[in-house]
Amino acid sequence: MTNGSETVFSKIIRREIPATIVYEDDLALAFRDINPQAPVHILVIPKQVIPTIADATAADQSLLGHLLLVAAKVAKQENLDQGYRLVINCGPQGGQTVYHLHIHVLGGRSMHWPPG
Ligand code: AMP
Repeated sequence: MTNGSETVFSKIIRREIPATIVYEDDLALAFRDINPQAPVHILVIPKQVIPTIADATAADQSLLGHLLLVAAKVAKQENLDQGYRLVINCGPQGGQTVYHLHIHVLGGRSMHWPPG
């Protein structure tokens, strides 16, 4: 089944297109970014479609907290002991290209600041 808010990430959740999945539970999925910007680049997504962080509501509070904990768990799993960066892009000026909320987990090299 599809609907207007679906993206390629819904297809990854349903295993309709391949992805390298590194973590899954009832609420979240984490998989390697197809175009990595760092030696480790993983996306953590909710299974529920929330297009952008701006669309999240108070009802999503515990899910959002869960996603952050999953991001930290995945970073530990990837041995990012020296640190890492979590990024959420929102909307066109935020650089978002896939409208299914996701947290980027970037690590394995020193990050620059400020980001571009
Ligand atoms: P953003 O620009 O923040 O919306 O991030 C979207 C990310 O999804 C980009 O880093 C893309 O490389 C990544 N991406 C798009 N399609 C796929 C895919 N099929 N599998 C894994 N990552 C993807």
